[in-house]
Formats: sequence, C-alpha cells, structure tokens
Amino acid sequence: MPELTDLTVKECLQALNQGQVSSVELTRAFLKRIDALEPQLHAFITLTPEKALQCAKDADEKRARLTKKGETIPALLGLPLAIKDVLCLAGTRATCGSKILESFVPPFNATAVQKLLDAGVIPLGKTNTDEFAMGSSTENSAYGVTHNPWDLTRVPGGSSGGSAAAAAAKFAPAALGTDTGGSVRQPASFCGVTGIKPTYGRVSRYGLIAYGSSLDTVGVLARTAEDVELIFRLMAGFDERDATSSDAPVPDAVCGEHTDIKGLRIGVPKEYFIVGIQPEVEAAVREAIQVYEELGAEIVEISLPHTEYALPVYYLIAPAEASANLARYDGVRFGLRVEDGGMLDLFLKSRGRGFGAEVKRRIMLGTYALSAGYYDAYYGQAQKVRTLIRADFDKAFTQVDAIAAPVAPTTAFKIGGHGDDPLAMYLEDVFTLPANLAGVPGLAFPAGFDGQGLPIGMQLMGRHFEEPTLFKLAHAFQQATGWHKRSPAL
Ligand code: GLN
Repeated sequence: MPELTDLTVKECLQALNQGQVSSVELTRAFLKRIDALEPQLHAFITLTPEKALQCAKDADEKRARLTKKGETIPALLGLPLAIKDVLCLAGTRATCGSKILESFVPPFNATAVQKLLDAGVIPLGKTNTDEFAMGSSTENSAYGVTHNPWDLTRVPGGSSGGSAAAAAAKFAPAALGTDTGGSVRQPASFCGVTGIKPTYGRVSRYGLIAYGSSLDTVGVLARTAEDVELIFRLMAGFDERDATSSDAPVPDAVCGEHTDIKGLRIGVPKEYFIVGIQPEVEAAVREAIQVYEELGAEIVEISLPHTEYALPVYYLIAPAEASANLARYDGVRFGLRVEDGGMLDLFLKSRGRGFGAEVKRRIMLGTYALSAGYYDAYYGQAQKVRTLIRADFDKAFTQVDAIAAPVAPTTAFKIGGHGDDPLAMYLEDVFTLPANLAGVPGLAFPAGFDGQGLPIGMQLMGRHFEEPTLFKLAHAFQQATGWHKRSPAL
C-alpha cells in the first residue's frame, strides 16, 4: 500500500470501507504530515488535532456499530477534511483571515459543513484565506501568507490559498473553499489541484461568512475530478436557511470507469486568449483543447463579447455587497471590541484596528458606489452590465455544452510580486469573475506546467446546474492525461 497521505478521497474511502485502515490511523497520518511540513507552508490558521483524533475515534466506533447491525455506513465516514476559515464549524474559531474575528467561535455549523459532518468527515482544521476572502494570494490574511507547495517563494493563489496548498501538499485528501470571483479556481490552478465553483444557489451559503452575497459560492478542492464530484454532491441541495438555494435535484455522479464525452461541444471564447496572458498558459490550454478534440468533443470558436466589462462590474458589485455585509462588525455584536472613548470611538476603533487595508479599501469603494447620487451611475449601471454578461453565457450555451478557458493569465506569482498595486492583483481575476457574475459553474484542473515547474490550470464553465457536464469532461481529461497526478516535492 502507498503512503496513507498519498491516497485520494476515493482511495481513502475504499481503504476505510475494506477495513485496511482505521480513521484514527488515517487521521494520524495526515496530522503527522501537517506537523512536519506546515511550518514551511502555513496552510492553516487553526489546527484542531485533538478534536480530529476524537472525531476519528468516534467514526471508527460508529463504523463498528453500524457494521455489526448491518446498517448503511455514511458515505464519507472517517475521511479527514480541511475547511476554509470563512465557513462556520461549531466550536472552532472562524477568523475569516481577519483580526476582527480573531476570537469568534461560531455556535453552529454552515449547512455545507453540517452535511459533510453528517456524511462522516473529520475536520482537521481551518485553512488560511485572504481577509474576508478578498484577494488572490492569501497575502491579505491577517495571519500571514501561505506558501505555494511547488515553490515556497510563491503565493498559492487566493483567497482559498490555504485549502489549495493543503490539498496539493497532501495535508488532507480534500479541502473546502469558497469562490466569489475565482477563489476556488485560481488557487486550484496555482497549486495544481482540481476545484469546483458550483452554480450559484447549488450549495447553501448558510454559515458561510458573507463577502458578496449575490456571488458567493461554496466549493471543493481535491486532486481528482472524481473526488471533487463526490464531495460536491454531498454538500449540494436545497436549504431552507438560504433563500437563494435552489431546489433543483442534486445530479447523479458521472465520473465512472468509461466516461464518454463524444459529441459534447466545447466553446473556445476568443476574448479569453488575450494579450498579456503568459504564452505557456495559452499553449497548455490550447493543447488541452486538442486533447478534447482527440477524445471526440467538437470544438467551436465562440464569443463572449462583454468579457472586458467583467472586471469593473465585479469590482463595483462585490465591494458594494461587502460594504453592506461587513457593517455588522461594529465592536458590539461580533468580534473585536476596542473600548476606548465613547460610542462612536467604539465603532471607529474596533473597525479601524480590526480590518486590514484591502478590506477597508473595498468598504470605501463599495460605500461610495452605493451612496445617494452615485448609486445609479455605479452600482445600478454595474447591475445592468452584469445582465449583459450573463446574456453572453446564455447565448453561448445555445451553441455549446461547455466553455474552455485559462483560469488565470499567469502561473503562481512571487510573494510580494504585486507589491501594493491592487489593480495588478485584481487583474488576476479576469478569467474567473465572469462565471460568478453569470452564476454559472466553473471547474479548474491542471493542464500542464510552465518552464519553472509551476502548474497551469484550465477552466471549464457550464450551463446553470449542469456541473455533471464539467465533471464528465474533466474526468475524461484526467483519464487521458497525467498532469493531475504530479505532486510537489516537499
Ligand atoms: N480575487 C477576487 C477578490 O478579491 C475573488 C475573491 C473570491 O473569490 N473570494 O474579490
């Protein structure tokens, strides 16, 4: 048997179900690896090894009990999992990468987390993130940057950088992330793992600490499309606690032995192959598209003409929603409270000391965009253009079943590489923002490596609620190629 930490989700579950390994053994193996390598990576904000071992012990006992009675074993019973620190896990602090929530311990579970706990997962800890998920590198975390496992001098991407690094470094067979503008897909791409941003409304947002509520989604990162699909399906579904969650039935699994993609039509949008994109990224994505052609897919050139507006539209809508969502951190109800002066001082000082620079920048941008006299010109206008962006996708999906594109214009950049230029950082998101604005699902997976040995990701976007098409395509690619099997030497 290989090292326990080399096992994929599917292999872990097989080993557990066949009694080759106990959850305690499996959990110990991952904790041991974390112990050895976490000082280099800093993928976690909070680690909970004692809780994890207790939970694993309970899972093993539960398995024995259920087996004895001949009852069904929950699908993920005993599987270790890492969770992004913007999702609530009852009894463990949820900082959101922010000082303002440094000691906030949620008393309840996010629905996505609860569903996975019901399925039997063992939480190992909470992973690093840009503060309130605002960023593309984890450099905006108040708890220090996460290092890319492929090159420790580089960022893992963000904001789910801790989860991506944890999945790539085999700290856990899978990790939960969130994606508001690319935060699952871009770090998946930078760290060489597979990650899904589901359709908006597919997975409940209850217990996900809000950033941009009309864009936020909960996703999964792991090493294969099959693993991602498995966990995604168990988190998905209607939740009465999230008014925007959809009652569309959760689709059956499609990643199987003989996944056939013949006749599927894949669109290649010309607006995603632009000046400024790293040539190796373009080459790898084009080569992957070639692989699809060889596998029997039909490749169609398409146009998403409003793509260039996605960036300005997103950076109006997301900060506007963030400014409203973050108003609740006032020193009174949640988190940090700086009592030093009167009532107004309480608000000003708690927020002033609690929030980092990027969060303050977004609150200012968002408040401005929403203010009387400017609302129509900025927020209102952005909403109209958002509709055009969505219409581009609707039209494209009458012609094709999926859209192939790069995830990010470049591979992982150096820590500090964007200095304090927020615009350079925002440009990282050009290819991922449109899916969030349109609400469509997106799947990122490795499609090659650049000359420096850094992973290159490609992205498939699909029709609303048609995640299975994306899983099918990614799985077929992973059966035909070996990019996803490479791991960083740590
Ligand atoms: N990088 C984008 C931002 O800073 C997206 C982040 C996300 O998806 N949470 O807003």
